[in-house]
Formats: sequence, structure tokens, C-alpha cells
Amino acid sequence: MDETRVTVRCRDCSHATTHDGLRDARVAVSDHESATGHDVAWDIESVDAGVSRAGADAGVCGRPECANEDSPLVDPGPPESGSKSESESHPES
Ligand SMILES: [Zn+2]
Repeated sequence: MDETRVTVRCRDCSHATTHDGLRDARVAVSDHESATGHDVAWDIESVDAGVSRAGADAGVCGRPECANEDSPLVDPGPPESGSKSESESHPES
């Protein structure tokens, strides 16, 4: 849970900080943006690829209706590949 590492980097000056959570990073971004009017970017590191992807997707809008449909969160995953043939193939004579 504490494995999220977010690097905040300003595109307009050399301001750069590292945070251990999205919330801290978000605060730092809006802090610097509101203070300087600069364009701040952030990189999410040290997290599972799926989590990083979900974070990027969520960043698009925030409303579930706007979620990227390619997101693994939206896709329920492959259906159960059940090999239940044995219950259907029992002899009945
Ligand atoms: Zn800046």
C-alpha cells in the first residue's frame, strides 16, 4: 500500500519532488501550480503496472462513465475456463 512512489516534476522550472503517495503528490502539484502558474507533471513509479494504468485512466476525468474502456479495471477478465467435462461425460447406461 505504501509502495506507490510519485515523482513530481515541473516543466517550467527545476522544481522536482518525490512523494510516497498520490495524495501527497497531488497536493504538491496543485501547490506549485497555484503558486507559480507552472505546468507540473508527475510520474507514478514503483507500483504494479495495473495500478499505474488505472491511475492514468482515472486521471482522464475521474467519473466512472469516462473511464478508458481499455482499462483492465473495466474488463472483468477472461471467463472461467472450467474443465467440467467430467460431470457431463459419465456413462448412463
Ligand atoms: Zn515550476
